Amino acid sequence: MSEPLINQPQQLPFIQLIDVKKTYGSGATEFLALKGIDLSIYAGEFVAIMGPSGSGKSTAMNILGCLDSPKHGQYLFKGAHVEDLTRDQRARLRRRYLGFVFQGFNLLARTTAQENVELPLLYRGDDAKKRQIAASKALAAVGLTGWEHHTPAELSGGQQQRVAIARAIVTEPAVLLADEPTGNLDTQRSHEIMALLVALNRDQGITVLMVTHELDMAAYAHRIVTFVDGKIAKDELNEHPTMPTTMSTDTTEVI
Ligand code: ADP
Repeated sequence: MSEPLINQPQQLPFIQLIDVKKTYGSGATEFLALKGIDLSIYAGEFVAIMGPSGSGKSTAMNILGCLDSPKHGQYLFKGAHVEDLTRDQRARLRRRYLGFVFQGFNLLARTTAQENVELPLLYRGDDAKKRQIAASKALAAVGLTGWEHHTPAELSGGQQQRVAIARAIVTEPAVLLADEPTGNLDTQRSHEIMALLVALNRDQGITVLMVTHELDMAAYAHRIVTFVDGKIAKDELNEHPTMPTTMSTDTTEVI
């Protein structure tokens, strides 16, 4: 690993945080969770965010995901100042450009895989036919063709996370924000999910930002950013990212 090189200086960062600070609480209980973050992410990168619990990773991800805004500093998304956008404008940016994957899958329980994946399109106002085609395509991309009509209870953890990833990519986001996507999975399923994220990054050009505690999952990323105590302590290129060995579209797993 070495210091990140900006090898395409003519390319502008897709996402840029400049001296971003975030506090929680106020007065005597005010707590500075981010103490001045500078981070530039370029289109097509696969970045892992690591660091101990409480170091500010989720706070930074919430800001990057336009779910929260910084108290101080600038957040530029494709050159636009996110901190100046209204709540509605931020929501639109989120719907148009971002996909989210969480540790806990967050699927609707009594709803089929297909319907879960269609949900963001329903919110967007797409008609039934368009939703059905796009959701089938997204489920195929995560290796779940044939599982469309199963509910989460009928799927393994790995398959549920695939449905969640299909739901995140069905809107064709430019950036996928994944917060501990393998945190609830066993080792084999974790590597399968990583293979899928690598494929989405490599084949579809989706920029991936992933928080993880696990070094062997971070090792798939091309760049590893480490948070310590509300600051970026390290920002390194991973010159030899792990190459997936499992089939990213393996659907043979037994529940
Ligand atoms: P990480 O994701 O690295 O575990 P977080 O971003 O969740 O870290 O938290 C950073 C710090 O901010 C922690 O000390 C945490 O206790 C604090 N914090 C996070 N969310 C809140 C909140 N809603 N109110 C008060 N403090 C918070």
